[in-house]
Amino acid sequence: MKIKWLFIFLLLPPLLPAQEDAVPPAFTAGDIQLREAGFVNMAYPPFPKFYFDMRYAGTENFTGKKIYNFRSCWLRKEAAEAVVKAYDLLQKRRPGLTFLFYDCYRPESDQQTLWDAYPDPRYIAPPEKGSRHSRGMAADITLAGADGAPLEMPTGFDSFSPLAHMNYNGKKISASAKQNRELLKQIMLDAGFTYTRTEWWHFDKIGWAEYPIEDIQPED
Ligand SMILES: [Zn+2]
Repeated sequence: MKIKWLFIFLLLPPLLPAQEDAVPPAFTAGDIQLREAGFVNMAYPPFPKFYFDMRYAGTENFTGKKIYNFRSCWLRKEAAEAVVKAYDLLQKRRPGLTFLFYDCYRPESDQQTLWDAYPDPRYIAPPEKGSRHSRGMAADITLAGADGAPLEMPTGFDSFSPLAHMNYNGKKISASAKQNRELLKQIMLDAGFTYTRTEWWHFDKIGWAEYPIEDIQPED
């Protein structure tokens, strides 16, 4: 009798892995290359729940043109870890808030596409200079509620208005927009990023110059 029960036990399937062990559903060639180059996809564990509204994957950006053939948000591991640090600081200041990403890693050839769509060095890094986004060390990011809805900020993403400047404190922006912008700036600085004077949403991870520009295409 005992031997029979042991036999049934051995036939039982092994336990399924816990949700925390979940990995992205498919590894495409581009994704494997990105991982080997030290990039991570921000949409999967171990990252907390982030939201994504990748503007260059569609036409809702200042060029009015679709720039990317992918919708995923990849960052160099060092930048991703700093985003998690900023998220932890955010939980201490405003529990329950999270981040919404507008742009992450931008392959070098897509920087060229962006430049061709809008060749103005005031707003776009010329391809020969390269973008910090192409190094996987820059993120365009805002604060969002637990449902993913973005908090009020001085302007929308990719606004070239003076109101989008990090130090604009005039009467044309509301007190809550200013407060939200300052909170985002402070936690990002404390986590190891620097900010850009003209774009409240853009942050560079300190040390970005040590990393090469990449042209690997994510495939999802
Ligand atoms: Zn940016």
